[in-house]
Amino acid sequence: MVTRSAPKAERGAPAEPVARLDLDAARLPWLHHTLARTLASQRSHALLVSGPSGVGQLAFALALAKSWLCETAPSERPQQLACGHCGSCHLVDERSHPDLRLIVPEALRGEVGLDADEAGESDGEGKSKKAKPSQEIKVDQIRAAIGFSELTAGRARTKVLVLHPAEALNTVSANALLKTLEEPPGALRFVLSSAEPQSLLPTLRSRCQVVPLSSPDAGTAIAWLAEQGVDRPEVMLAASGEQPLVALAMHQAGLDAAAWLALPERVAAGDVAAFTGWALPPLVQTLQKLCHDRLLVSVGAAPRYFAGARLATGDIGRLSAWAADLRRQARHADHPYNAGLAVEALLAQAREASVVTGTPSGVNGKPGAASARQRPAGGPIHSQP
Ligand SMILES: [Zn+2]
Repeated sequence: MVTRSAPKAERGAPAEPVARLDLDAARLPWLHHTLARTLASQRSHALLVSGPSGVGQLAFALALAKSWLCETAPSERPQQLACGHCGSCHLVDERSHPDLRLIVPEALRGEVGLDADEAGESDGEGKSKKAKPSQEIKVDQIRAAIGFSELTAGRARTKVLVLHPAEALNTVSANALLKTLEEPPGALRFVLSSAEPQSLLPTLRSRCQVVPLSSPDAGTAIAWLAEQGVDRPEVMLAASGEQPLVALAMHQAGLDAAAWLALPERVAAGDVAAFTGWALPPLVQTLQKLCHDRLLVSVGAAPRYFAGARLATGDIGRLSAWAADLRRQARHADHPYNAGLAVEALLAQAREASVVTGTPSGVNGKPGAASARQRPAGGPIHSQP
């Protein structure tokens, strides 16, 4: 990889470790059949790989690129899959193949194995060091990719552009990409990966052959997580919303099943230490899952994310107000503040929403949206619909 002179310590990187995604499709057995079928039946130079996030779209996209760029004769490779050991395959794994460009928002570079120092390459010296990492694929990145596509291939006979996630293309970027997508120079191939294909420009979508991916069944996902060393994989799979790669990333970030199942009670107790070292986005997301599950149990349904945990029922109005507050916070949760500053406020809000059936409502939460709702003074809140 190209190294830049800016020392990493200057970049204000988040304190928590970035969980590297497992991007080797060879280790994701539920992708194998579709991968082989796609290689055999591909008819367009542009593929749109779509499926729920956490199922492995990017791993799939990279596996396609690796197969197209592999230097072992196709006749020697079962189902045209990448051999995994030639020079080209290694370069793809290292993200340094000269004929492959992986284009992701700046905020995702570390996660997908790209050097974060190269981010914002067109933003000018120093400017990108202080700005918060972009969640969008910027038009400068697309222009650079088009420039790359117009060069002659460096090693292989083909060049590959992988864009992930395609929904991160803003309107300007998407429009900048259209012409090259329609009339690619030379033997250029595209893979766009997306969890929200419906949000893409129709003109973009219509130029691609769609390859739908689906989540593995629970048994396959649980067996796979167990093979990766995840303890109580069924708990972590539920915690992830049935997204095995997300479950693995949670495990790799140091969260285990016991800690997960203890979270509802620790949140109820306002235990800030439960979230030591957490970044803000996963914290808000976890509270959203908790709120979602408490709403479910409050109407007599089974929880989705915290099955097996002790979940208190609650007042539907208060929980709904909490859910709305969390949705609003989720929109701003990528701000690079230290999560520690926000944890106390978020937990106070959680307690405000958590005046539960059978518990005296003596929680002195700060006044918030929920507190404006009428409630019986000092008495229990009844949650039965
Ligand atoms: Zn190879």
